Amino acid sequence: MRWMALLSLVGAARALSSAVRVARPGALKLAPPGIFDVGSLDRQQLETFVVDDLKQPKFRAKQLREWIYDKGIDDFGNMTNLPATWRDDMSRRGLTVGGTIACLREEQISKKDGTVKRAYELRDGSVIESVLMPYQDGRRTACISSQAGCGMGCTFCATGQMGFTRHLTSAEIFEQASRFSRELKRRGERLSNVVFMGMGEPLANYDSVLTAARRINDELGVGARHITISTVGLVGGIEKLADDSLQVTLAVSLHQADDAARSAIMPVNLRYDLEALLASINNYQKKTKRRVTFEWAAIAGENDDANAARKLGRLLKRHAVKDAHVNVIPLNPTAGFAGRKSTNGNVDSFCRTLEDEFGISATPRVRRGIDIDAGCGQLTTALEGARPPPAAPGSELAGEIYEGGIASAASPPKLTIAELKAELTRRGVKFGARDRKPALRAMLESNSV
Ligand code: SAH
Ligand code: SF4
Repeated sequence: MRWMALLSLVGAARALSSAVRVARPGALKLAPPGIFDVGSLDRQQLETFVVDDLKQPKFRAKQLREWIYDKGIDDFGNMTNLPATWRDDMSRRGLTVGGTIACLREEQISKKDGTVKRAYELRDGSVIESVLMPYQDGRRTACISSQAGCGMGCTFCATGQMGFTRHLTSAEIFEQASRFSRELKRRGERLSNVVFMGMGEPLANYDSVLTAARRINDELGVGARHITISTVGLVGGIEKLADDSLQVTLAVSLHQADDAARSAIMPVNLRYDLEALLASINNYQKKTKRRVTFEWAAIAGENDDANAARKLGRLLKRHAVKDAHVNVIPLNPTAGFAGRKSTNGNVDSFCRTLEDEFGISATPRVRRGIDIDAGCGQLTTALEGARPPPAAPGSELAGEIYEGGIASAASPPKLTIAELKAELTRRGVKFGARDRKPALRAMLESNSV
């Protein structure tokens, strides 16, 4: 009963209004009383809302959608084919297009390639990043976040160095893409691709990510194959994706082709080693017949020579990965990681070895926005100088209102070392005697699917 869910959504909106009034000033930055984001409603929910709650005929929902998603207009006053009284009424009721993003904290535009990098502040104070990359061939690719921070603990990644704050709701994920889409529409362009390569591990927040991806496909018109979900290698999530009806593109961040080296920079490998990961990819390809992309951050002297390429080639061959493409991108140096970026020459010969000796297609990727902080998590690091603020009390409410009842995940509980070890043992995760609390916590959080 969708309308029941919707009534509860509207009810939640009203409840939120009163919750906001009693919140400590400054402690919680939620929408002002009465604000309700119609952008958080999918096609069906919007229709139900317009008919049941706003008492308008069904075609008004279609008109609203055309203004918002086809023309990129978010001001009701400019939706000129809607009756003036209704436009006023919507504004008076506090309806908005978008609203999960509280404000733009920082924007940088690359003079070199036009890449736009933004740090947004969400209603609970969490900071996330979105990037828009324009290409010469006309593609417009949005790179969006699925979590505030990330619990996977990859040592080379600025987001991993911050730790996990919380999952994003599907509306928060969708709004990052729909903002870029509306801005492009207003200048006669269109969003063509979306990649989940911003902050966070998308498969650890599977349901919200897939709900948002469906809306990006359905309402923003981005083809499913042009939506890429990049994962650190969560096997359970890859299995779910293989059975999902939305045929998105899967990218897997590998970076090393042997277990010891990969575990040293990606703690998730202790939970799902290369054997398990490649087996799940093999299975995914058997089911979907789709190409899989592998991401390879080239680190000088660590994984960027011909031997490293051969190790990777042999790994992919041994696991009968059929249709693979390897994207090789020089490491973006980060404050918390000593590794240096590879040279263009090494990246080129790495790619050539894969192609010539193994017939595996590989492309050196240009680091976009290199004159700005366009690496994952780097703008936030530059902004905050530390980890993003933890979710404010009551942020679950913000999750509820935008998700229609699905509460956002709370921060993980603070466990002692003994408790962390006991929990990891229970889940069958391997760890060494010398692993310290941050490493153990990262392993636990890596195991969130
Ligand atoms: N959590 C997902 C998606 C977000 S990270 C994942 O890990 O796949 C997006 C990509 O950026 C991943 O391939 C990740 O390994 C890569 N990345 C992170 N930090 C990087 C850095 N400092 N230099 C180069 N690539 C980096
Ligand atoms: Fe998380 Fe991806 Fe960064 Fe690893 S690389 S810490 S999974 S965002």
